[in-house]
Amino acid sequence: MGKGTAEALCSIIQSYTIKSTFYILTKLIRCPQCGAGIVAGKSKSANKTYRYYKCGTFHNKGASECSANSINADKAERQVLEEFKRIVTESQFLQRLIYQF
Ligand SMILES: [Zn+2]
Repeated sequence: MGKGTAEALCSIIQSYTIKSTFYILTKLIRCPQCGAGIVAGKSKSANKTYRYYKCGTFHNKGASECSANSINADKAERQVLEEFKRIVTESQFLQRLIYQF
């Protein structure tokens, strides 16, 4: 992956995360319990709207089949973004190292 591509990808993910309209993780993570895809949801409390991800099996078939295993969408996306940045940074670091030899 070239430097430009990595930076472009990073900014795309960042802008989606900031806008909070696109649930990037539905494509990336699965339920740790049953392995099903996860679904995104919203819940309102007081004056805030929370976004979350939960198990698709739980969503479709109920608590008898699996647990919600829900996670906070903002928190999870931030973690993935940080991890992604780290990988990009490290791969650039490795590239620079390689060019020196
Ligand atoms: Zn599940």
